[in-house]
Amino acid sequence: MAERSPWLASKLRYGTAQLRYLPRAVGLVWAAARGWTAAWVALLVTQGLVPLAVVCLTRPLVDGLVAAVRTGGEWPAVRGVLVLAGLMAAALLLGEALRVAAGWVRANQSELVQDHINGLIHRQSVVADLAFYDSPDFYDHLHRARAEASYRPIALLESLGGLLQNGVTLAAMLAVLVPFGAWLPAALFLSTLPALWVVLRYAVRQHQWRLRSTAAERRTWYYDWLLTSRECAQELRLFGLGERFQSAYRSLRRQLRDEKVALAKGQSLGELAASILALCVTGASLLWMLWRTVRGQVSLGALAQFSQAFQQGLRLMRTLLEDAGQLYQNSLFLGNLFEFLALEPEVLDPPHPQAAPEFLQEGVRFEGVTFRYPGAGRTTLSNFNLTIPAGRITAIVGPNGAGKSTLVKLLCRFYDPQEGRLKLDGRDIRELSLDELRRRLAVLFQEPVRYNATAAENVALGDASRAPVKLEIQAAAQAAGADEVVARLPQGYDHLLGRYFEDGAELSAGEWQRLALARAFVRRAPILILDEPTGNMDPWAEAEWLERFRAQARGRTAILITHRLTTAMRADIIFVMAEGQVVESGSHEELVARGGLYARSWSEEALSA
Ligand code: ATP
Repeated sequence: MAERSPWLASKLRYGTAQLRYLPRAVGLVWAAARGWTAAWVALLVTQGLVPLAVVCLTRPLVDGLVAAVRTGGEWPAVRGVLVLAGLMAAALLLGEALRVAAGWVRANQSELVQDHINGLIHRQSVVADLAFYDSPDFYDHLHRARAEASYRPIALLESLGGLLQNGVTLAAMLAVLVPFGAWLPAALFLSTLPALWVVLRYAVRQHQWRLRSTAAERRTWYYDWLLTSRECAQELRLFGLGERFQSAYRSLRRQLRDEKVALAKGQSLGELAASILALCVTGASLLWMLWRTVRGQVSLGALAQFSQAFQQGLRLMRTLLEDAGQLYQNSLFLGNLFEFLALEPEVLDPPHPQAAPEFLQEGVRFEGVTFRYPGAGRTTLSNFNLTIPAGRITAIVGPNGAGKSTLVKLLCRFYDPQEGRLKLDGRDIRELSLDELRRRLAVLFQEPVRYNATAAENVALGDASRAPVKLEIQAAAQAAGADEVVARLPQGYDHLLGRYFEDGAELSAGEWQRLALARAFVRRAPILILDEPTGNMDPWAEAEWLERFRAQARGRTAILITHRLTTAMRADIIFVMAEGQVVESGSHEELVARGGLYARSWSEEALSA
């Protein structure tokens, strides 16, 4: 036997490997809409049998018609024809009714499946490690999963349904054809093999193209976002960037379009060649039947039945192949969704989580921590040591990129360090339940989220697990200096914020930050971390706020990350970081007296004030 070519072997391996997703995809549809799926299968089988009834009625109808003409239109003969015609009409009507019912069932099923899949994608996005969001590969997966997954399972179902329905009809048609000649079904099958080859070849090609072009396609989405989003609208206008991004978008789209069109062209040419071959087989078979009719070997009714069954058989065979190709292609694409869903987070709960301390007695320790962001070229923290005392206010200051915010991300376990450990009261945070650890932390991030929700919700979301009452929300807003912002809103705490929805009020950057601060304050957590809390505040507001903050931080371990030394000076202890290391520490007075980095920054800040 000739050895299978490596090309063919690799394609076959590829194809069968991808087909493993098929049962999972069907399972997905079944899990999302059991009842509708069962109804849909029942409808498909019934629909598949209707054409058989039509073809079977054709022969007696035509023969009856010929006989009625011969009898000169005698009533008994005409009545027989009318009954058959009535049955034919009923079958056609039933076919239509089933088609409409199937459409309705499918619409319901499709909605449920889409929601189910989006739910899976959302769940996975929420639990995925933050490290995934640093990786372009993750975005490629997410992009493909989101772009394709909502409709692919339904498309897959359609092709499966097509296979089932057309398969039932085809089997029936072949059974009708066998009495005319056993070779006819074989001829039908052989004539469609080239089409099968074309369909499968292009299914694989299209899938491979999709994988190759994801990064370029994501870039077009990015340009689209730059051109249409509110965040970019100001710079786009001022710097005159519109034309630049439009032209980048256009040229990428042109490239993608050309590649796609080239694929479609190749497929169309292949399909044309395959169709010509199939038509030759049809022509030859019809000629053979005509010849037999002329010689009186078969009746006119039989000729009509044959031609109908053969034409339908040919069409069905083609449709079946297309369905198979589509099925294959859809299962290839669904591989993207399953790959995305299979991404495993690495930051996990320990097998036997310990309880996190309700209140800190000793403090937070970084012990010999070495950390490099995934895929980053350089190490952010190297053998880093720091003790943050419990129940005090600690400030961490230092130049941009020193690694200050990285400390917060490690403490929240958004990432785990490659070496060393972080401890809460002597307990390694990797031994604590992830959920409990995070509930012990209230954090104002450097770029807090601006929730397009009411002012009250913007605060209450800080402790969603227990739904803070109005008084608590007001107290937190007051402590953050957000109460005066809310007081200016026509509906106060019930006023919608942001411009995303109708009647929302837009706030200034500083006002948004105060609300985010209130969100951190409302959370009952023993550790309070504020990353640049006063960055958007004017000096008067800063002094007033700091007074209130002392009251808010009482009994808690507070960490202030700031560039403003006027903020840092109020802390009990200040750590100065540079290039991933603590280079100085002490109280404000001690640090100024030392004459180091802090003292230099202090005198520069004082000069510029
Ligand atoms: P700033 O004062 O500007 O807020 P920072 O001291 O808070 O700076 P970090 O945000 O901790 O600095 O960043 C420390 C270093 O880590 C920077 O050099 C930055 O380039 C790098 N870095 C931060 N986030 C990531 C990331 N997601 N992936 C790769 N590198 C990162």
